[in-house]
Amino acid sequence: MSRFLDSRFRELEPYVPGEQPAGGYIKLNTNEFPFPPAPGVRRALAALEEETPALYPDPEAGTLIRALAAHYGVASEEVFLGNGSDEVLAFAFMAFCGKDRGVAFPEVSYGFYPVYAALLGIDALRVPLRPDWSIDLEPYAGCGRTVFIANPNAPTGLALPSEAIERLLQSNPGCPVVADEAYVDFGASSSVPLTARYDNLLVVQTFSKSRGLAGARLGYAIGNRELIQDLNTMKFSFNPYSVNRFSMAAGLAALEEGEYYRDRCRQIQAIREETMEALSRLGFEGTPSAANFLFVRHPGVPGRRLYEKLRERGVLVRHFGGAKLQDYLRISVGTPEQMTALTAALEQILEEER
Ligand code: PMP
Repeated sequence: MSRFLDSRFRELEPYVPGEQPAGGYIKLNTNEFPFPPAPGVRRALAALEEETPALYPDPEAGTLIRALAAHYGVASEEVFLGNGSDEVLAFAFMAFCGKDRGVAFPEVSYGFYPVYAALLGIDALRVPLRPDWSIDLEPYAGCGRTVFIANPNAPTGLALPSEAIERLLQSNPGCPVVADEAYVDFGASSSVPLTARYDNLLVVQTFSKSRGLAGARLGYAIGNRELIQDLNTMKFSFNPYSVNRFSMAAGLAALEEGEYYRDRCRQIQAIREETMEALSRLGFEGTPSAANFLFVRHPGVPGRRLYEKLRERGVLVRHFGGAKLQDYLRISVGTPEQMTALTAALEQILEEER
């Protein structure tokens, strides 16, 4: 820390992203898409016009926003585009929490929520999960705070039905509810249809997971036009060009390749189930995941040790510190070959540890 850092930030603990090594690892630590991009995405990137790098991107992101609106059957004014859903979530924290309202989110959820709250000086209520890791929505009813719920939740992978999100909306009519659906395409039900009836619902999704564009940084929100206007107020007060031309071209092409990505998502779900069965045979326990990752522990070996031993064998998974999560690993669902390598490595490690 320099002696110049503003005293507001002295205690700030930044988010710690998963490692991104240069290569040589089977990378199952950041829930990326394990398959190649759809042919149309490759073509779109190859066909970029010569002037593309020289010109600013469209600050309104009109083309991609119109395509997203058509895809979801909503109006363009009900869609916001940002630099990854991380940025969209950050704008939602800025716009909807602070002086008038604090924020509430599950104690175990996406690690960026408490970081945004701390960065922006927002009072945060962190609501414990039930012992089975499910989200108890009761404490959020009438809480007077903006609510952020990841659905499916991370790192547990557990999903709520959209009826539960609807009850949450009804019990908080005066507060925004943000449904973070980063992983929704791997088996959960989306709350986008509820945006037609609830002016306090903002649904946030991303191109990073189910459309394989984590490197492009493209996220979006769907909701009532006034909520979307507020997000635009944040964006145009911060960085009107937050989404670049290359990424918008890739995103547009990915939307047009719906069938390719739907098929791959189904494949990922099948690999997830097979992997969970294989891990169960090795004695692992886990939650029924509706996401592109597994959340598992082994009763005989601490999570940290499993993480380190896997790393030595060239397999990267995610291990979180802290009393509640230390027994667990979060393992992204990769290709069948990657998962075979993972289970073989775990089998060897368990043999050694016996
Ligand atoms: N929400 C959740 C629950 C996540 O796990 C992630 C990915 N780390 C994000 C949002 C952000 O994803 P991106 O910024 O790549 O869209």
